[in-house]
Amino acid sequence: MFDPLLEDKNDPLSHFRKKFLIPQKDGKEQIYFLGNSLGLQPASTPAYINEILAQWSQYGVEGFFMGDSPWVNYHNKLTQPLSCITGALPHEIVVMNHLTINLHLMLASFYRPDNKRFKIICESNAFPSDQYMLETQVKHHGLNPAETIIEVHPREGEVTIRTEDIAAVIEKNADALALVLWGAVNYYTGQLFDLPAITAMAHKAGARVGFDLAHAIGNVHLDLHPWNIDFACWCSYKYLNSGPGGIAGAYIHERYHTDTSMPRLAGWWGHNKATRFIMKKGFDPVHSAEGWQVSTPPVILMAIHKAALDIFMEAGMENLLKKGSMLSDYLIYLFREINKNAGKEIIEILTPLSKGCQISLRVKNNPKQIFEELMENGIFADWREPDVIRVAPVPLYNTFTEVYNFSEVMKKLTA
Ligand SMILES: *Cc1c(COP(=O)(O)O)cnc(C)c1O
Repeated sequence: MFDPLLEDKNDPLSHFRKKFLIPQKDGKEQIYFLGNSLGLQPASTPAYINEILAQWSQYGVEGFFMGDSPWVNYHNKLTQPLSCITGALPHEIVVMNHLTINLHLMLASFYRPDNKRFKIICESNAFPSDQYMLETQVKHHGLNPAETIIEVHPREGEVTIRTEDIAAVIEKNADALALVLWGAVNYYTGQLFDLPAITAMAHKAGARVGFDLAHAIGNVHLDLHPWNIDFACWCSYKYLNSGPGGIAGAYIHERYHTDTSMPRLAGWWGHNKATRFIMKKGFDPVHSAEGWQVSTPPVILMAIHKAALDIFMEAGMENLLKKGSMLSDYLIYLFREINKNAGKEIIEILTPLSKGCQISLRVKNNPKQIFEELMENGIFADWREPDVIRVAPVPLYNTFTEVYNFSEVMKKLTA
């Protein structure tokens, strides 16, 4: 018998919950299963922000070069932890902008359609911002999205997409394929895709490949560099707890860093550091992912990011991944029991075994009403039309007892 109280007691990460501000109602901590949407605030965040404010008040603009952590190099403190989290080399990471903006910047470099190669393959039901990004990129090149963007769908009657079906579409379009752009973990189903396999298939077809890691970073095992991925982008406000609209990041494989023929949309923060402030004509990119940086870094957002990343490093990515999959496996187990005891499938589990922390549940009867009652019961979950409830028990602050209590509430509501 799996005893949630005992599991929590023996959990080597249990003390990390204290480091986060858990939402409360009537003095009672709520069950927050929305770390996949906006990760909770570390209690240490204000101190990190205040350090920047103090430096600003003391040095003014000289804060870029003075003080304990000069702003001009502040991003260096972020690339090391992000390298552990993503499996990229530190110089393959640049912390900048926001996710959709970075996807546009990456496509400016990596999507160069010509008469022969112009098609893009992506998942069906991708996150809307990614769909709009692709649609407008294609139009920006004067192409027709309907003839250019090819979506791979789940089979009739299935919810997730099979790797062999992705392979078949890539092979079929190999001659005209320019780019594969894929969400590493699908936001709706929670399906984790086989990134190294998709990368190898795209490269074999002669195309480039990039991943959107919004739902993958800080949530699943990543090895971007060894997997030979060309580029990837992510946001930091979901599993990485770095605040609403927090600063995002991108990975660019090192083989592109010195390729000056590669087009890019540049700004002065991507320019050679030795001559950046001489302010002369002629763009000379930094020979690392930083060469894609455009604007003055928002140091306060970086400080918020650092507060969270320091906690990730303290906990250790391996430990977090292990507990994360234990939590979500336990949740799946409990819902299978509910179905078993009911003698029928009253709650369909959409998320396959290959996953991170997010579990997507399709409730067969009165889903919207049940979702609203979850909120009444102090459970933060996420509603997706028409009938899906998404929950993400995350390893830094969620507990096995919360997963158990959630399943007990759902059992009552669906009875
Ligand atoms: C959350 C999310 C986004 C959001 O993009 P922003 O530019 O940060 O607003 C985009 N794509 C995916 C797949 C997401 O999950």
